[in-house]
Amino acid sequence: MKRFNTLDGVPLRYDRKTSTSYGTIGVPYKPYSEESFIQELEACFKELFQVCPLGKPNYILTAGAWTPKPGMHKKGRAIDLDGLLWDDYRFITLEYPGQKKFYLAVDAILRKHFGIVLNFRYDRPHEDHFHIDNSVNTSFDRNSRSKVIALQMGLTHVHDTPVIIDGIWGDQTSKAINDVLKELNISDPVTRRSGWHAYLDATAAKGFAHIAAEPSLDELYSIHREMIENAELSTSAKHGLMASFNAILSHEEVDVI
Ligand SMILES: [Zn+2]
Repeated sequence: MKRFNTLDGVPLRYDRKTSTSYGTIGVPYKPYSEESFIQELEACFKELFQVCPLGKPNYILTAGAWTPKPGMHKKGRAIDLDGLLWDDYRFITLEYPGQKKFYLAVDAILRKHFGIVLNFRYDRPHEDHFHIDNSVNTSFDRNSRSKVIALQMGLTHVHDTPVIIDGIWGDQTSKAINDVLKELNISDPVTRRSGWHAYLDATAAKGFAHIAAEPSLDELYSIHREMIENAELSTSAKHGLMASFNAILSHEEVDVI
């Protein structure tokens, strides 16, 4: 067992000291865990902060790592993640209903590194944190309720292919994931590790995409072009749009046509 108080350089904070401290910056935290588990956490959070457009947060909020409860926590191979705090954005697991895409993007990266991730829809006790442990491998398993639930949540809320979220693998889920894999140009099935991990990458990318603070110049260009081409605009409105359109075009990063 080894102690650690940061992951990818970001400080860990314990936000469960009092009943009202959940979701706040809490207090510094330095738990014990198995050394190999800490290394896996380092790799996982490093990837998470690389993929997330917001980059590294200021704090990682946790409900605990090593605890005397029987199970993976006692073995030093589990951690409970409550949230992540940036300067102008807070990700709090209990707020899943209001930030589903972001939540499922985080969930996807966690699953690439840990075989057990229990989330908001797994059961009531996990609505306010992700339980993460390495007791099983990171391949997909149709008999794993937690993995099937995560897949169904991603299909429904990230990939616009709604299915019943019940944790049971059936024809509806099977058809939906195959359609989405085809759309994503992923040729391996989700039952193969490579297919599952490619799907998780795509889920993270798509889930995080909406948070990008500023639209790209290409996006601005197409938004303006659409607006200018809209015949219902008044002449003065068109002139105003043309002015900002030209300002965008004059920027050398825009690749016109
Ligand atoms: Zn836990």
